[in-house]
Amino acid sequence: MNTARLGIHSRLVHGGYHPDATGAVNVPIYQSSTFAFRNAAHGAALFAGEEEGYIYTRIGNPTIRVLEDSVAELEGGVGGVATSSGLGAISTLYMALLEMGAHAVSTASVYGPSRGLIEKHFSRFGIGASFVDTSALDNLRQAIRPETRLVYVETPSNPAMQVTDIAGAAKIAHDHGSLLAVDNTFASPYLQNPLDLGADVVLHSVTKFINGHADVVGGILVATDDEVLQRLRDVMVHMGCSMDPHQAFLVLRGLKTLGIRVEQAQAGAQAIARWLETHPKIQSVRYIGLPSHPQHELARLQMRGFGSMISFEMKGGLEAGRRLMNHVKLATLAVSLGGVETLIEHPASMTHAAMSRKAREAAGFADGLVRYSVGIENADDLIADLEQALEAV
Ligand SMILES: *Cc1c(COP(=O)(O)O)cnc(C)c1O
Repeated sequence: MNTARLGIHSRLVHGGYHPDATGAVNVPIYQSSTFAFRNAAHGAALFAGEEEGYIYTRIGNPTIRVLEDSVAELEGGVGGVATSSGLGAISTLYMALLEMGAHAVSTASVYGPSRGLIEKHFSRFGIGASFVDTSALDNLRQAIRPETRLVYVETPSNPAMQVTDIAGAAKIAHDHGSLLAVDNTFASPYLQNPLDLGADVVLHSVTKFINGHADVVGGILVATDDEVLQRLRDVMVHMGCSMDPHQAFLVLRGLKTLGIRVEQAQAGAQAIARWLETHPKIQSVRYIGLPSHPQHELARLQMRGFGSMISFEMKGGLEAGRRLMNHVKLATLAVSLGGVETLIEHPASMTHAAMSRKAREAAGFADGLVRYSVGIENADDLIADLEQALEAV
């Protein structure tokens, strides 16, 4: 079905899928590593190997193709490349677009491993990168060099919740002969479409909102240009970070309810963020849906909603954060985000405990910072849970 003119919820349910001869309502899991070439003995009109079709699952697979086509349609690109993980998508992107001597400019508060991958590994091949606060475009403009080939922006970014002007970043990148890629994981295609704002490539960790059920790790890249898409696919195939058909099936199942999940979670997030802002034990709240957020207006312009990620800072620093973690009951103490269940994380005592306080401050977060990924539970229950936990702090 051509779903291009349908509303977003209809596209989420029907996009990308063309029913096969059996009429199966959902795409079957084509759990096959390889696909037979039809030779003359099987009625092929062409010499074996000359026909279009599936060859080998690392190169392409019918179940994975449905996911690639549906996310590509949602993002308004020419096609997609699904990968084994979000980092698989990011490493494919860097490998495809950066050659020896090239330089990239990226958001300083980007997902940690997206930065580590360049600084620790791509640097070994003579690739440089500058990490700047891209929420102020002047920083981006100043960081561009003649050899800059890629501007890589994450918006909203994590856990600082900074928003970057995508159309502005696209203009700067293009004026300097660079491409713009956007990590759209936090917003999901339901809330933000970077390609419509001028980006050349958009990527997701589908582990988060797109799948939404904390049971799969995966990634996807979507491009606006056939030649760029081919480069991405060629690198993915050669590096071997392909998705698995069963993984694709689960992600497709999650994708159908992306819209209703995001609507429910962001309504909860708005209520929780407002409530947190008035709590005496909370120093500050960073939620892009609050008028107090420095890029609230920009988020309103380039997104269709504010999503469900909240960061807040506790008075009382490290110890207060640790005590809060010990007393939440409904929210689960875990990394990751974007699932139906609410997750809470305290970087200073959990994911970033190995860093010094100074290093954490340089990365833009204080010891009392807590990251809260709102799920689809009732907001009243989540507020009651936070209230009882904050009483114990
Ligand atoms: C989780 C995440 C990634 C990495 O994705 P994986 O699926 O864990 O490999 C990249 N970017 C953002 C913003 C993320 O939240």
